Amino acid sequence: MRRLDRWIARAKALWASPSVVPLALPPALVNLKDLNHHDPLTGLANRLLFEDRLDGAARRAEAANRRLGVLFIDLDGFKAVNDSYGHSAGDQLLREVGRRVALQARQSDTVARLGGDQFLMLLDGHPDASAAAVVAARLRTSLAEVLCIEGRDLRLSCSVGIVLYPEHGPRAKLIAHADAAMLVAKQAGGGMHVFFEPHMAVDSEAQIDLQRDLRHALDLGGQGLSLDYQPKVDTKSGRLTGVEALLRWRHPQQGPIEPSVFIPVAERFGLIGTLGQWVIDEVCRQQRAWQDEGLDLRVAINLSVYQLRQADLVERIERALKAQRVHADRLMFEVSEIAAMADPPACVRLFEQFMRLGVQVSIDDFGMGNANLSQLRKLPACQLKIDRSFVQKLEHDDEDAKAIVDAVVRLSHALGLNVVAEGVETTHQQDILLRFGCDELQGYLFARPMSPVQMALWARSSEAVPRPEPLTRLERPD
Ligand code: C2E
Ligand code: CA
Ligand code: CA
Repeated sequence: MRRLDRWIARAKALWASPSVVPLALPPALVNLKDLNHHDPLTGLANRLLFEDRLDGAARRAEAANRRLGVLFIDLDGFKAVNDSYGHSAGDQLLREVGRRVALQARQSDTVARLGGDQFLMLLDGHPDASAAAVVAARLRTSLAEVLCIEGRDLRLSCSVGIVLYPEHGPRAKLIAHADAAMLVAKQAGGGMHVFFEPHMAVDSEAQIDLQRDLRHALDLGGQGLSLDYQPKVDTKSGRLTGVEALLRWRHPQQGPIEPSVFIPVAERFGLIGTLGQWVIDEVCRQQRAWQDEGLDLRVAINLSVYQLRQADLVERIERALKAQRVHADRLMFEVSEIAAMADPPACVRLFEQFMRLGVQVSIDDFGMGNANLSQLRKLPACQLKIDRSFVQKLEHDDEDAKAIVDAVVRLSHALGLNVVAEGVETTHQQDILLRFGCDELQGYLFARPMSPVQMALWARSSEAVPRPEPLTRLERPD
């Protein structure tokens, strides 16, 4: 148990309760005579004033052969806060964020709010890449501290894009390029800063095109969208325990687009609610079709953090189940650890509602976030999926990864959770996971995600597939 204790101690250190920063009104930044140049909500400069300052600073920098930096700051998950807590809470939050950003600026710098949850910071004073990175890191730390909004503690991260002038583009493109770099930070999971690189400019335009095409696909009832299904198998018997639905999109011109590309686009442009609903409806429809063929599979659906904040999510699920006469226990929802920990009390409430409805919950990508042990204990989930990155490391006998997987399995079992390892590609990984007592495995070693027709064939033939070595014949490590 020593390793488990160490792991828990490490986890506890990570989850030490954060310092609570009270909400305060922004400093008196507004010159009332000059409202045209200021954002009325935060009192910061608006885009017009920022561009004006940027122009002047760029001219001076050119003359003196000096550099400038621009930081593009975008809150992660702000829209969901606004949707679920209301606009007045959203405004309060933006004022506090504006205040915190302004606190990181020096006298010569300019801070602006572009609108929504987007802020800009002009670093005037010859910053190099490392100086700009230091400011970005400070900003992220400051924004990551607890915000108390209408009596509730919230934690938000932000994504920051950084450009330096003159190396990252002409003056007129600086803000757009900083925005593109910010999008890359957001796509990589948010909570980080990224420097602009030339290929990113294309990406940000391409994203706008993608969201338009995805919107169109959804308007047409999901044209080009489909679901693949990937089996999870029982470690001991090798039997199929359920399948995970994975969304696919075939773009009319560009062909298949990765979910890791289009799902963040859907999240960013407010399409994830409709897209997620399409997935829920489609899974229920498929369930009905399979059941009519005599095939009974439990299907797991991935939920985005934005869906968790939909006030009527549970009713939507209930309606979809009813419409297809599918029993709730045939569905499972996979919620990533990071999404679950974004608002633990809300998540506990939601999971309890899921439990009452009869659907199961799985904590996905476990190990990627800083889940709080006591919070994890409170979550009425029944499954925990060890993130693929740990499974990959097992391939090279990474001792840390082994210790973590071992500890996670023991901890999960202690909490009564079933453990699934995802991304299992080799028999070596399988052997280690077997030894550690993982309950279910999923990955290319067993099957890739496949179409519903292939999935049905696989499910029927999998009864004939040889079982992995039984657990008892393998020795556990010390
Ligand atoms: P995820 O939930 O972690 O799903 C597992 C991903 O790993 C899938 O990628 C799957 O195809 C891939 N995978 C499975 N086995 C292996 C393996 O052995 N090796 C490797 N290298 N990869 C493996 P995919 O389909 O590209 O999906 C990526 C992510 O997109 C998913 O990660 C999930 O977060 C998200 N996603 C997919 N479908 C949906 C959806 O319907 N709704 C939401 N919100 N997110 C979805
Ligand atoms: Ca998943
Ligand atoms: Ca994963």
